[in-house]
Amino acid sequence: MTDGFATRAVHVGQDPDPVTGAVVPPLTLATTFVMDAAGTPRAGYDYARSGTPGRTSFESALASLEGGAAALAFPSGLSAEDTLLRVLTRAGDAVVFGGDVYGGTFRLLTAALAHDGRRGVPVDAADLAATAAVIEAERPVVVWVETPSNPLLQIADLAGLASAAHAVGALLVVDNTFASPALQRPLEFGADVVVHSTTKLIGGHSDMTGGAVVTASGAVLSARRTGAGGGTSVIDEVGWLRNAVGAVPGPFDVWLAARGLKTLRLRAMHASASALRLAEHFAARAASGARDVVEVIYPGLAAHPGHALATRQMDAYGTVVSLRCASPELARAVCERTRLFALAVSLGAVESLIEHPASMTHATKKDSPQAVADEIIRLSIGLEDVEDLIADLEQAFA
Ligand code: PLP
Repeated sequence: MTDGFATRAVHVGQDPDPVTGAVVPPLTLATTFVMDAAGTPRAGYDYARSGTPGRTSFESALASLEGGAAALAFPSGLSAEDTLLRVLTRAGDAVVFGGDVYGGTFRLLTAALAHDGRRGVPVDAADLAATAAVIEAERPVVVWVETPSNPLLQIADLAGLASAAHAVGALLVVDNTFASPALQRPLEFGADVVVHSTTKLIGGHSDMTGGAVVTASGAVLSARRTGAGGGTSVIDEVGWLRNAVGAVPGPFDVWLAARGLKTLRLRAMHASASALRLAEHFAARAASGARDVVEVIYPGLAAHPGHALATRQMDAYGTVVSLRCASPELARAVCERTRLFALAVSLGAVESLIEHPASMTHATKKDSPQAVADEIIRLSIGLEDVEDLIADLEQAFA
């Protein structure tokens, strides 16, 4: 019998140190490892760029929690995305992606990688039929989606997208940063690869930067990349390129990410319950005539167009709530007037954050059809008492 999620979060890859018995695996800072004979590393480690005990421990825990075959840690979410995309695509290949993605991912897909002739094709990933039609027409090698998306919290149908992608020989990659494996495991719905910014819910304390790639068992490169025969393992290729280009995280960041996994489920469930309470409060307030919040965007609300799908795909609805304010001026003013919510980018940490995506996290989309409206504010709900958070927003709106 497989242990449950919370048990694996505490124990997988976390065996007590065999030498000292320390219950927490030690933070190994060494960059080089002694060999018993030339070319024969003692325990599989020779040089820290190629691997460290702390990285192995974190990667085995994350792979288990996502239900994947293997995971690789990176120094940031974007370096994980970049390394993965360099493996999966070549010049001229199309990547069909949900247009409501993080601004940095948008920049990677439409500018940074476009210099190489790769084409990012944005779609409305919440509209499965329209997305499937674009996939059929564009024949991408990768379909890329965030669900819930950032910052509009749209919900994409993972099983539907997996079949549309697989029908043209493409891989489905899901950025699971917003949900984390505590709330949603995309590989269970047919996705091939999951990526993370572990800087967010997984680290959970706004004190480390990291990323990760997790692959489903048997994930191989698109036959259109490798030619007939195929069969090249995605994780092997990503691991090869990570070592070749040196995109590796420092030991302390990985140690903090591993520690974050142990409390992830508790934190994600608690903050999701608070997010739902806060969303319900502002929805009720709008329904009773308040004009300052025009729309409360949260997949946990029955009125959200993706509510039923989110209920099928997620264990809870996530820790982010977005509000459409009556005007851009009000949106900015509220961001600057909160007392508990800190005006800062990022999300998924113990402290609540507020931000204005159009001028902050999603400024890279300005002037594009995917630009985020100026009236939107994004709230990342932390672990404070939810009634204090609601009161803080109320005084800011007042
Ligand atoms: N994916 C999502 C959904 C994000 O919100 C972010 C950052 O905000 C990233 C990826 C990029 O991660 P990082 O900042 O760790 O490079």
